[in-house]
Amino acid sequence: MPEITIPTSLLPADGRFGSGPTKVRQEQLDHLMASREILGTSHRQAPVKDLVGRVRSGIADLFRLPEGYEVVLGNGGSTAFWDAAAFSLIERRSQNLVFGEFGQKFASAAAAPWLEQPDVRTAEPGTRSTASPVEGVDVYAWPQNETSTGVMAPVTRVHGDPGALTVIDATSAAGGVDVDAAESDVYYFAPQKNFASDGGLWLALLSPAAIERVERIAGGDRYIPEFLSLKNALDNSRLNQTLNTPALATLVLLEAQLDWMNGSGGLSFAAARTRESSSALYDWAESVDYASPFVADPADRSQVVVTIDFADAIDAKAISSALRANGVVDTEPYRKLGRNQLRVATYAGIDPADVRALIGSIEYVVDQLG
Ligand SMILES: *Cc1c(COP(=O)(O)O)cnc(C)c1O
Repeated sequence: MPEITIPTSLLPADGRFGSGPTKVRQEQLDHLMASREILGTSHRQAPVKDLVGRVRSGIADLFRLPEGYEVVLGNGGSTAFWDAAAFSLIERRSQNLVFGEFGQKFASAAAAPWLEQPDVRTAEPGTRSTASPVEGVDVYAWPQNETSTGVMAPVTRVHGDPGALTVIDATSAAGGVDVDAAESDVYYFAPQKNFASDGGLWLALLSPAAIERVERIAGGDRYIPEFLSLKNALDNSRLNQTLNTPALATLVLLEAQLDWMNGSGGLSFAAARTRESSSALYDWAESVDYASPFVADPADRSQVVVTIDFADAIDAKAISSALRANGVVDTEPYRKLGRNQLRVATYAGIDPADVRALIGSIEYVVDQLG
């Protein structure tokens, strides 16, 4: 393969387009440096508890938290939340929509021995399945954005059995897609995507019905490990604490991103940015004859993770490698999808001007490979 040097005038100012972890904005790092007196201090003392409190209220503001909902957090990221949900949220049986890796992972966690087998509704990658009410199902679960494929699904409450909960994996959608939180009972995410922080934490908006469920299951006779107890997380969160030590830098970086979003117009501001960036990519892919959006139905196309297929004559791997050699990183597709594809995050923190520069860089590389 020839070595390709992309002209500096074409390159994005910031070359980080990963789907998570992703670009951390300079202002977040400045805030981290300005917060140095908090780093390395006790999470049981006021300065860190106040930081957790500011993060919780920043999230409440961003999502226009509906009456009675609470912001809960814990350690372990979204993956830990799946196991916590199996112990603390699913009463008997869940319905899981699977249209990619992340939906599948929750479905697997929900197949726990103390629960009935989940009602799993699978769709081919690039498309999506939909929820429908089933008697005996008490949790309806799906990812709002399937990060492995770039398929996005609406957040609308499922009206099943009385008390059934709608539980949304918003890990890669939260903070980049406008949403009515009242259409879900649990809206959970991790901070390393639109919030441009580090991983290792989960956060969730819980409705009054979800809180009631968590408390009821905790009061029953099911064995629940303390680390995976949502009741424990709820009680600690109310005190602006976590069960065990949180990563303080992660909270500080998250705080900075929340301040930026809330100070710039909130969720509609963030969603307009991700919409602008993703539209630029989809419009471009449709305008050239060697690329096309992987997700066929425009209504299902993600505004935060864009997947673009390339014609057989062009090796997408050669494009992502050439980009990487020029400092433009993490445009490789989800490893298990195995397609001739680029995947580009268009999260809130990524500058739409950089996405347009990325398009110019891809065109340059394709031309050179030609
Ligand atoms: C990234 C991602 C996860 C996994 O998050 P972790 O914090 O690494 O566990 C889960 N679901 C979706 C939709 C994701 O994009």
